[in-house]
Amino acid sequence: MTMLAPWLTPSLHQIQALKQSNSLSHALLLTGADGVGQESLAREMVKDLMCESQQTAACGECHSCQLMKAETHPDFRVLDGEEAGIKVDQIRLLVKQISQKPQVGQNKVVLITHAQAMNINAANAVLKALEEPAAKTYFILTSSQSTSLLPTIRSRCLLVNIPTPNQADVETWLSQQADGDNLKTLFWLTTQPFRLQSIQQQGKLSLYTELPGRLADMLQGNISSTEVLKGVDSKNIDDICNGLSAILHQCILSSTGTMIEDALRDVYPLLMARLGIQGLMLRYQALQALKSDLHKTNLNPVMQLTHELNHW
Ligand SMILES: [Zn+2]
Repeated sequence: MTMLAPWLTPSLHQIQALKQSNSLSHALLLTGADGVGQESLAREMVKDLMCESQQTAACGECHSCQLMKAETHPDFRVLDGEEAGIKVDQIRLLVKQISQKPQVGQNKVVLITHAQAMNINAANAVLKALEEPAAKTYFILTSSQSTSLLPTIRSRCLLVNIPTPNQADVETWLSQQADGDNLKTLFWLTTQPFRLQSIQQQGKLSLYTELPGRLADMLQGNISSTEVLKGVDSKNIDDICNGLSAILHQCILSSTGTMIEDALRDVYPLLMARLGIQGLMLRYQALQALKSDLHKTNLNPVMQLTHELNHW
């Protein structure tokens, strides 16, 4: 019934078995490399826990399952730390909201994704909730940097480590996703499957796929640095910086013998001829510095990046 990525299913089955035998911990921490799918797995686990049927997996039919589908279940709360940090007031409110009896089914669930974004006060508030667990209440945390969580939180959670899939598994999975074939051409940027999927969902696919070609055009003198950055603004400049960094990084790796990704086959010799290995490393460092300072100064970010590209 579910289209869960294959490398996530063993963990889901493990949790389902614990739930069926009534031995599931009330706190779970799903960890793995960034973009490997811990959030996707957590969402499946939440559905199973909220379902009112006695089945192993969510039935999809009961009132709870319907409410989960409509994203209006009153006994489910979620906090996502990806964009901004997670603050103590948000945790306190959440704990208060779920302190009553379940309104619909058997269980209540709190999901905290990118939990490493909790500040220390927020983390302590979660710890308190874990130390005094309300009946039938589950906490599911996801993180790509679980070691930066409080050790006391980690020790209270059942740890679920998600393996990083190999490239063949990622390719097969991408083939079943929207724009999957185009996403496969972005392995120079990342091979993390859910990071690729989120690029597609955010409508940033062409921004990345066109970058190596535009850069090659600039290096051949066909277009200017300003034209390379056409359409770039303060909202997507971080993406462009990440893309340019990844291109330089791949070229540095290739200069030491690693096979170059197909999508970089044109730009690689041009960059090598222009900058050489030393120059590649210098530009890479300059780009990292620029990335971290980009929003700290009053200078126009696009102008700063244009200035950097003029050194290439
Ligand atoms: Zn159900």
